[in-house]
Amino acid sequence: MASVLLDAGACNGCGRCAEICPVDVLRMDAATGRARVAYPDDCSGCHFCAQECPTKCITIDDRRETDGVSIYDRLGIADNWKS
Ligand code: SF4
Ligand code: SF4
Repeated sequence: MASVLLDAGACNGCGRCAEICPVDVLRMDAATGRARVAYPDDCSGCHFCAQECPTKCITIDDRRETDGVSIYDRLGIADNWKS
């Protein structure tokens, strides 16, 4: 598990993070037009959102204690990214 930190003030409302998050941690807030962290406890620390964000306003804190389950295991897919 990891913590996703969002600087909402720097968010441009593009929605890319919400689209790419495999576990729907991030959602677009209709009231503000910006992203918000809707389900922080579900963040796996995959970094997809931070890599996709054009304004670099997302930071992933990997220091949160891990439960030993990777995002690949959670999704039931093969981990082809590791060398
Ligand atoms: S690091 Fe991965 S799981 Fe966590 S919010 Fe970003 S895309 Fe979602
Ligand atoms: S990708 Fe970045 S700029 Fe776009 S909605 Fe998400 S946090 Fe905001």
